[in-house]
Amino acid sequence: MNHDDLRHWSKRAADWAHDYHAGLRGKPVRAPLIPGAIARQLPTQPPEMAEPMETIFADFDRIVPPGLTHWQHPRFFAYFPANASPASMLAEQLANAIAAQGMLWQTSPAVTEIEQVMVDWLRQSLGLPVEFTGTIHDSATTATLSAILTMREQALDWAGLTKGLQGQPRLRIYASDQTHSSVDKAMRIAGLGQDNLVKIATDATLSMTPSALQAAIMADLAAGFVPAGVVLCAGGTSVGAFDRMGECIRVAKAHDLPVHVDAAWAGSAMICPEFRSLWAGLEGADSIVFNPHKWLGAQFDCAVQFLRDPGPQVKTLGLRPSYLQTAGREEVVNFNEWTVPLGRRFRALKLWFTLRAYGLEGLRGRIRNHVAWAQDLALTLGKVAGVEIVTPPSLSLFTFALGSDAATEALLTRINDDGRIYLTQTRHQGRFVIRVQVGQFDCTVEDVQMVELVVRALL
Ligand SMILES: *Cc1c(COP(=O)(O)O)cnc(C)c1O
Repeated sequence: MNHDDLRHWSKRAADWAHDYHAGLRGKPVRAPLIPGAIARQLPTQPPEMAEPMETIFADFDRIVPPGLTHWQHPRFFAYFPANASPASMLAEQLANAIAAQGMLWQTSPAVTEIEQVMVDWLRQSLGLPVEFTGTIHDSATTATLSAILTMREQALDWAGLTKGLQGQPRLRIYASDQTHSSVDKAMRIAGLGQDNLVKIATDATLSMTPSALQAAIMADLAAGFVPAGVVLCAGGTSVGAFDRMGECIRVAKAHDLPVHVDAAWAGSAMICPEFRSLWAGLEGADSIVFNPHKWLGAQFDCAVQFLRDPGPQVKTLGLRPSYLQTAGREEVVNFNEWTVPLGRRFRALKLWFTLRAYGLEGLRGRIRNHVAWAQDLALTLGKVAGVEIVTPPSLSLFTFALGSDAATEALLTRINDDGRIYLTQTRHQGRFVIRVQVGQFDCTVEDVQMVELVVRALL
């Protein structure tokens, strides 16, 4: 296989991709789950001799699609979306062809400079103040880890980087009981220990209770622990909880604590000004992450972290061995110093293509539809006998349940075996509930109405 062959095969792949997407509505959303069914079809040993691409491609077409859960299926209502707009797919095709490393400005100035401009376009799109700059990570998990590592080092006056954590005071980070498990994971990886993530109780609105945050910080200070930062939740994964940013940030700042906001899912919705009241007061945060790879249409991987002052994070993550120095170029940004990995993909290209191909108005229109359709669906589904809406729509996410956990779980199994739609579950206040989120890039109102049809048919 050489580049002349690639020209032929990439055209075949483009045709395959077109037909795959055109046929999605007719396929079950979730892969039929028979463990081992795909692996069994592959030889157990790698090939010694080259094989023709014709054979490789035929095997791909035969073996892979039956083992896929179709994340771009218009009736994917599970988890959160992982949207890939056609314009984003095209940009990824070009980024793949270029295959550049964007670790330093000089390793591809276009990669760094387009990333800087795209982060600023998104800052404006979300209505964030001009002082925020930022970078693109692979995932929100990595962005949150970066923020927590920075909190750790600020609290230790950068001693942890060289001396390690032995003999250091016990650092404490605060987050609500609605925050994503990536915060717990960051505590583990950062060496702070999951037990030092203090989970603050939420109030009736599912926001962190600001007075409980204040009390937890005071109790830790009295116990000789060192508060190091607060992680706030703007759109929780379970049921879409929002912390009241302004009040919680005020408590954090009274103790001089840095604040990181996880808006991985809901951040995309903030391109619509009418939703921004949900995160009012956010301007006071130091770090904010959101995933254009969820709801905006710039496919995985694309997690944008905004930073009020990149200085502390760069001081934490940046290393300049002699082979990474860029002589006489102190004015340029070397993004590897802002993130955990050294190597970095050209992720900004898909943002550039997506934002231009649909325009903010086109993207807003989709998100507004998703929110309105989710609200309509919650209303109609709530009128079905036996169905209870457990949490009302937070943007485009709501949950429902039947009379008992066993009945709800059995219904979910029937729904996903049926295949016309795909839903997943969570636990809310001890109860097994079914999540419905509307957000797939190509979904229509008819696709959303199918949820009610399927639930009625399978009750
Ligand atoms: C999806 C999600 C994450 C994790 O995102 P990754 O990019 O997959 O790491 C974190 N927080 C929230 C609120 C999420 O919805």
